[in-house]
Amino acid sequence: MDALAGPLAAAETDRIVYDLTGIAHQYDALLGELPGTRVRFALKACPVDEVLRCLAERGAGFDAAGPAEITQALDAGAQPDHIHYGNTIKSDHDIAEAHRLGVRTFATDSIEDVTAIAAHAPRARVFCRLATRGEGALWGLSRKFGCAPDDAVRVLETARAAGLTPAGLSVHVGSQQMTGEAWQQAVDTLAGTLTALAGRGIVPDHVNLGGGLPALGYRDRHGNPLEPPLDKIFTVLREGMDHLRALSPAPLGFVMEPGRHLVADHGAVRAHVSRLTRRRQPDGTDVHWLYLSCGKFNGLYEMDQLTHHMVFPGHSGDEEHVLAVVAGPTCDSDDAYGGGRHPVPVPRSVTSGDPVWILSAGAYATSYMTQGFNGISPLPCVCTRGADVQRRTPPT
Ligand SMILES: *Cc1c(COP(=O)(O)O)cnc(C)c1O
Repeated sequence: MDALAGPLAAAETDRIVYDLTGIAHQYDALLGELPGTRVRFALKACPVDEVLRCLAERGAGFDAAGPAEITQALDAGAQPDHIHYGNTIKSDHDIAEAHRLGVRTFATDSIEDVTAIAAHAPRARVFCRLATRGEGALWGLSRKFGCAPDDAVRVLETARAAGLTPAGLSVHVGSQQMTGEAWQQAVDTLAGTLTALAGRGIVPDHVNLGGGLPALGYRDRHGNPLEPPLDKIFTVLREGMDHLRALSPAPLGFVMEPGRHLVADHGAVRAHVSRLTRRRQPDGTDVHWLYLSCGKFNGLYEMDQLTHHMVFPGHSGDEEHVLAVVAGPTCDSDDAYGGGRHPVPVPRSVTSGDPVWILSAGAYATSYMTQGFNGISPLPCVCTRGADVQRRTPPT
């Protein structure tokens, strides 16, 4: 936040600002907690070239979801063997294109997909994603991805028979995972599956513990700080890695695919107040509404689960506040939060044009911006590194 205050204060128009130094430190801190882990940044969380370059320079690789993300990661300076195709959903064409771009490691979770990988990326390495329950996460990813342990054994046997290398197993415990227990369950499932695989003569060389590591600066739908037990999560992960290493017949490496954890708290949105209104609702109550220039469709996509941390520069916490529903500028009624019993305190004296800073807004912001919905363009993105500020306009 400190590093972002200067660029936010200097901004005269709306934008999203990233602190590259903060992102680099976050990456270093993660490696400090989990030494030896290979980090593959899930680039969908922040596909901003400067951010990717900053991470690639420090040695990070990338979890890419398809050929376009692979190309962006390569352009940011990543070596192809530091990029994996982490999406279990891919067409024949996508597989062939990734292979042509030099990617040799692919996620999978079905016989159909692994058969296609064997056909279009011969001799590639594959890792099989195991399903998790997604409990304890703000955004669970349970049903769409991953298979059961016995299915994983069949998928990796199919891979071996088709000339692929059955190289690993992966999980994703759900995004913004708030519990150590979810990781513990994932480790238990991985342990059982590794043992079953060893019984079939398949010895993976790595386990991919996925994304899901939390951001620290969020507030939940009730406006309360989320306070994830990060130390406990890292302890569970370290002990889990030791356990899996001990039961593997051959040396076992570890990969993680953080997205949100590396960028969320090092990005902030500079928006402005469109209007603070008070309207009588159909049920007869008077409700304040704070309309902002940014909302669900241009920078604040995750307002389904979060109450964004807003700062109103020039206003103090001591002045009179009203409780308001917060809404973006579009003609879509989903573009709002804080209704019902959880309205948000807003200084009564804010007026149209006043700046608003929205903190911990760096994850899934630039990538979830609509183009031209109600005539609204994606926010310009600015990356800062201490004093020097580099400007980048969004792709057209
Ligand atoms: C989105 C995604 C991630 C990143 O998830 P976070 O919760 O942001 O850490 C990691 N791995 C895969 C396969 C993903 O799809």
